[in-house]
Amino acid sequence: MELKEFTKKVDDVLIRHKSILDITSKLHETDGKINRAIAKAVTECGCIKINAFKQDMPENINYSDLSKYMKNHIEGRLCHTCEEKIVEEIGDHMFYIAALCNNLELSTDEILKKKYNEIETLGKFSLF
Ligand SMILES: [Zn+2]
Repeated sequence: MELKEFTKKVDDVLIRHKSILDITSKLHETDGKINRAIAKAVTECGCIKINAFKQDMPENINYSDLSKYMKNHIEGRLCHTCEEKIVEEIGDHMFYIAALCNNLELSTDEILKKKYNEIETLGKFSLF
């Protein structure tokens, strides 16, 4: 499925939360639910652990080699249940991203193309 098709479908089905205020607040809510699902994978299920510490990298390293030394601080793998929950929450978030774009008459495809080109141009030097 293409993003354009997904965005169109969101526009077709979004009736109840059509207001920009509903959409932006739902976006905030779905962002929190993703965060919560990750936290529950750690604290309730235990399928993953977070072992966070200062990113330690050798001195005089090339910027392009930096990613080899950067850690994600995740130990383990998501179990099926936690993965399903996180996928569901990310899907809900994407739904409201598409709804926001529709509401503001912005093209999700154009946004992705623009970002892709930015990443392509800046490569590993792109910082967010
Ligand atoms: Zn789990």
